[in-house]
Amino acid sequence: MEFALSQAKKTCPFLHVASTSSLRRLSTLPAGAQKSNALLNKAQQCPVMSKAMEAQATTTTTTATTSTTQQQTRTFSTSRASLQKPTPSVKAKAVENTDANNVAKEKPVAFNSKSKHFDYEGYYEHELSKKHKDKSYRYFNNINRLAQKFPRAHTARVEDEVTVWCANDYLGMGRSPVLTETMKRTLDRYGAGAGGTRNIAGNADLHLRLESELADLHHKEGALVFSSCYVANDATLATLASKLPGCVIFSDQLNHASMIQGMRHSGAQKKIFRHNDMAHLEELLQSVDPATPKIIAFESVYSMCGSIGPIHDIVALAKKYGAITFLDEVHAVGMYGPRGAGVAEHLDYDLNAAHPTMGNGSIVDEIDIITGTLGKAYGVVGGYIAASASLVDMIRSYAPGFIFTTSLPPAVVSGAMQSVKYLKVSNSERQMQQINTRVVKSRLAELGIPVVPNPSHIVPVLLGDAASAKLASDELLSEHGIYVQSINYPTVPVGEERLRITPTPGHNSEMIDHLVHSLETIWNRYGFRRVNDWAAEGGRAGVGMAQPAQVQPLWTNGQLGLDKVIESKAVKQQSSSTVA
Ligand code: PLP
Repeated sequence: MEFALSQAKKTCPFLHVASTSSLRRLSTLPAGAQKSNALLNKAQQCPVMSKAMEAQATTTTTTATTSTTQQQTRTFSTSRASLQKPTPSVKAKAVENTDANNVAKEKPVAFNSKSKHFDYEGYYEHELSKKHKDKSYRYFNNINRLAQKFPRAHTARVEDEVTVWCANDYLGMGRSPVLTETMKRTLDRYGAGAGGTRNIAGNADLHLRLESELADLHHKEGALVFSSCYVANDATLATLASKLPGCVIFSDQLNHASMIQGMRHSGAQKKIFRHNDMAHLEELLQSVDPATPKIIAFESVYSMCGSIGPIHDIVALAKKYGAITFLDEVHAVGMYGPRGAGVAEHLDYDLNAAHPTMGNGSIVDEIDIITGTLGKAYGVVGGYIAASASLVDMIRSYAPGFIFTTSLPPAVVSGAMQSVKYLKVSNSERQMQQINTRVVKSRLAELGIPVVPNPSHIVPVLLGDAASAKLASDELLSEHGIYVQSINYPTVPVGEERLRITPTPGHNSEMIDHLVHSLETIWNRYGFRRVNDWAAEGGRAGVGMAQPAQVQPLWTNGQLGLDKVIESKAVKQQSSSTVA
């Protein structure tokens, strides 16, 4: 048994994160429990094992548990084709074999009846079983993105390569020599770690220079770098809203967890407005005393649906009601605007391209606090805020999330700075990314594969239930060599589960063909709903709606340099029809 466990742990990407004691506990029968095995239940929740078990009709004896873990080893090493392929007619069966049903078989947690002490392990298992029950349990795939083969990655086995279609390294900067060469040099010169907090030995010239770059990028007096934007959002909102006397925060319904956490930590009153609903925001603003300090917190690109925050309208309401604005541009920095400053910069594209400085009269200047990440389009890690000098100084002086933690390593800071500088002057990566996004969206639209309509670079493919989303994701990985993570509740509402596809400039036309063809195969095999099916049900998440909103991509044809291409195509078509 011990041998089987240690072998399984070496091979299985899921088991290897569990401790041997947890596995032993799962594999033994709890006192008084009926003859069932928790490890087997776990295996039934495993995307690989559940299929293998279905195929081989494994029995539930203790002996079978041992052979199950061994079988898992074999399943990983056999070809993809060896997994049983359900036919369309067994769709219901395939969907039945999911978390929810397995959870239903799970036994209630046996709390330690022999000891008076608290049963910690039992408690953890109990909490986890709740996650399985509400289908919010997260499976982490083992994905190792290959710097020399972007956007390819190997999975748990180095010889199994897949194409990654869901990374937030949107522009492939993470492996760009623009960064990596600088990072190697910085590592040799300054070593691995920062050596302390910003206050004690960890405040290098590199940190200060990065902050100057970021302040300039967003037309602000100052900027402050944090370990991540999760920390930046949490620390800034918590500090600011707890300091401002009686502060009320107005928060978009779809705001990211980091902002929600910051608001919670502040203890301030929070009013949630319906996503992008300006009438609702105004109604809520009206309900608060004009003299009360107010923060409106929102995002520019909402990453799970790709919608865009109405920046102009929110700034106008903030001015009218005496609020300050807190704009998260995490999914937009590097990606929009002539210098990659985000959506706010993009809204005045030509003005900002011609005069990229504070005080040029663009909407960027009107936003009080902008937050961004160095870990997505910029390809490294870290987060920041950009704002007035005094606000930045106040957060620097009061926010525990900034003060009491080791600062970012010098090599990371130099890489991030290089990336920000480079993307201030190079448009080609973000333009290519947008073009690939358009191609993927239009190819899927031709097939009626449902994409949540949006003007941004996100391609959310609607499945509508957790089991189908996971099935599609698992099948893409195991049968087609494509990695797209499924997105389930609570990241998206129940009933709006999806695949979130993020094209990059590194995806070539063969990769796009393969993605589209693979999705079509899966949609055919399982009879997943297409746009027409959603329309027949009255629409969902913007797909198949009776009166669809007109969505124009944020990057226009002109900004992408497509005007001339489209024009010359039209001329060609015209002249060929004239000749005919
Ligand atoms: N804000 C939004 C909207 C996000 O989606 C994320 C992360 O995905 C964050 C903030 C946190 O950024 P970081 O990854 O730098 O912690």
